[in-house]
Amino acid sequence: MQTINANGYSVYFNETIYNYLNETLLPEHYSKVFILADSSTSELCLPDFIANLATETPIEIIEFEAGEQFKNIETCYEIWSALTELGADRKSIILNLGGGVVTDLGGFVASTFKRGIEYINIPTTLLAMVDASIGGKNGVDLGNLKNQIGTITTPKAVLIDTHFLTTLPQNEMRSGLAEMLKHGLIQDKDYWDKFKMLSSLNTEDLDILIHQSVEIKNNVVLQDPTENGIRKALNFGHTLGHAIESYFLENDDKKSLLHGEAIAVGMILESYLSMEKNLLSKEEYQEIKYIISDIFEPVDFDKTDIEKITELLIHDKKNEFGKVQFALLDGIGKIKINQFVTNDLINSAFEDYKN
Ligand code: NAD
Ligand code: MG
Repeated sequence: MQTINANGYSVYFNETIYNYLNETLLPEHYSKVFILADSSTSELCLPDFIANLATETPIEIIEFEAGEQFKNIETCYEIWSALTELGADRKSIILNLGGGVVTDLGGFVASTFKRGIEYINIPTTLLAMVDASIGGKNGVDLGNLKNQIGTITTPKAVLIDTHFLTTLPQNEMRSGLAEMLKHGLIQDKDYWDKFKMLSSLNTEDLDILIHQSVEIKNNVVLQDPTENGIRKALNFGHTLGHAIESYFLENDDKKSLLHGEAIAVGMILESYLSMEKNLLSKEEYQEIKYIISDIFEPVDFDKTDIEKITELLIHDKKNEFGKVQFALLDGIGKIKINQFVTNDLINSAFEDYKN
């Protein structure tokens, strides 16, 4: 699969990645190579990864506990300290081997250690391959506030080895799939159409879809690296999706949803809003609802849930003039940003979702 050029770095795929690494990690260029992994990827991905590395540069491994709850400044402190103890200098490089938590946290650690050292992302979840590892945004959470602290610093390269997906649990696969569906809906109708035959796709087809998804995200980022305009297209499904994700996370009576599971519901609801704003036809809306509902389990919402989720939306920092702002679909494959929607319409979207 062809290498994709991003802003100042490239994304390499499968058969090319170890050649790239072995040609890059030369002792004359780097003093030490640090591999950052979490407790799952160190067990499931690291052995294969190390076996393919053939570099004479000394390698050190740093590990932290898996999970979003460890994506915080305390973990960074431990990693900055470990780097110091293990003799990292400005010529050291960090390889982030893991899902979005590892690539977000590792990118932030690298971009701040000694005012910034190089790093390479090696995403091991579908979500990190098609989304989190691309674009240069990194960061950590501050208490309940997601990604509150961070920088935009591009990696030296992103290396996607889809073989890592063989150990990824199904629900984590679906979570990444939600972002791929989003890429089709906001940018590319032909790409979206391929998901109509999802059950008949083999791993080779999936590899091609991953490659195309990276191309779509990368194109959006290239047009708007600092998120002033069109990059907001990537927020489709996320305005309501984030509110739903936070609500389920903070509510002890509810089973929390993975990011992609919440975004899947958010995309159905926001497609309804697009239809009601006469941007999307009824047939297109029904098709979107049908395809997403076929992949993701339905989520139950009662009246109180909907009220609370709408309250969370009102506090969204993206709002202007007290109104909630959305990126809505302007037909499948196109987006219209900065759209305002009333609370009544949001309520109707939830009512329609339940039926
Ligand atoms: P994650 O990194 O927590 O990975 C999910 C789980 O899968 C973890 O337990 C992990 O250890 C495990 N895992 C990873 N690779 C595996 C493999 N190959 N086999 C088996 N298990 C494996 O979560 P994620 O869904 O990858 O990423 C979510 C994070 O990404 C969030 O923190 C989110 O904020 C961030 N994100 C960032 C951006 C960005 O632009 N920077 C974009 C989207 C998401
Ligand atoms: Mg997302």
